[in-house]
Amino acid sequence: MAPDHVDGNAIAGLLAEVLAVEPTTTVTVCHSCGDEAVLAQSTVVMNVPDTTVRCSACGDVLFVIVTTDTEHTLIVSGLRLLRMPRPTP
Ligand SMILES: [Zn+2]
Repeated sequence: MAPDHVDGNAIAGLLAEVLAVEPTTTVTVCHSCGDEAVLAQSTVVMNVPDTTVRCSACGDVLFVIVTTDTEHTLIVSGLRLLRMPRPTP
């Protein structure tokens, strides 16, 4: 391992902060059309075990959450990026 690298434990705090955001304020950017919108504006189809989130502008899939008894799997196939506001200190 190069000296400028650390293992994944080093981002535990950062990842905890990223995953602890208010989800509806998250901004999505669609990989297909580039539309930028808050998550609350997306179109959601909930068919257990899949929850499919689509771009409100073009209808393409942004991401899918597959839920089982033991885990959630987030399949991020259609997002160019996901931007979350940081909590205010
Ligand atoms: Zn789109």
